[in-house]
Amino acid sequence: MGSSASIPRPGRACSSYLIADDETSLVLDLGSGAFANLRRHVDYNRLDAIVISHMHADHFIDLIPLRYALCYGPQRRKRKLPLYLPPDGERMLHALVSAFADEGGGDFLTEVFEVATYDPASSLRIGAGVIRFAPTAHYIPAYAVRYERHGQSIAYSADTAPDERIVALAREADLFVCESTLLANDVERGMRGHSSSREAGQMAQAAGVRRLALTHYAETATAHDLDEGACEFYSGEIVVADDHMLFELGSAPRILSGSLCAEEPAGG
Ligand SMILES: [Zn+2]
Ligand SMILES: [Zn+2]
Repeated sequence: MGSSASIPRPGRACSSYLIADDETSLVLDLGSGAFANLRRHVDYNRLDAIVISHMHADHFIDLIPLRYALCYGPQRRKRKLPLYLPPDGERMLHALVSAFADEGGGDFLTEVFEVATYDPASSLRIGAGVIRFAPTAHYIPAYAVRYERHGQSIAYSADTAPDERIVALAREADLFVCESTLLANDVERGMRGHSSSREAGQMAQAAGVRRLALTHYAETATAHDLDEGACEFYSGEIVVADDHMLFELGSAPRILSGSLCAEEPAGG
């Protein structure tokens, strides 16, 4: 739903990924502009859960328009939408929305969300799927996510510099969605918090993943900064992610023009 780094590329949203099958719809992160994209593919009232990797605005700020939709949209959910935040995320989010005190005060979020803090050391069950976390190398506490269901797996790096913990989490994943924020010639001085596509390729190769999707990249990124860099180190399939791109585990990615429902065969 969003493949940009912290500055949205023209016409593209910031970080957000919808994992959906016939039973469960899960959203990982909901950055700037992602809610509008999400609406092309699912009914927000039917989401099962939202999981936020870390509290940088490009990963969560569209929780606010989602809250408006859940609160004032034409249909109301029967139950609140589970929202899983990283440790300390709830305090930060409440501090942010306290500026909207006239619109519900302390209930701004909890009126529509079942807000919970996940324990990164534990697994989290969502429908028939299981999520595990790994801390990343980033400027603030951030958590990579691995989702598994029926023996299939997706790993998402969130924001991170190269890190063995990400490699361990992504081990043999069917799809590894990895950030590639840095351009090929970028050098992070001091504390590191992002990766280049070459480093994403190194992590993908070390983890033995089946497919690598590069994401969280800037409008200035070229093929040299993206897939060409990753393929120096990773020998599997590399896809440069884009908004509205659909990855079906086991088949080739494609851009979706309509909703996921419209993609299903008649009667399916
Ligand atoms: Zn980010
Ligand atoms: Zn970040």
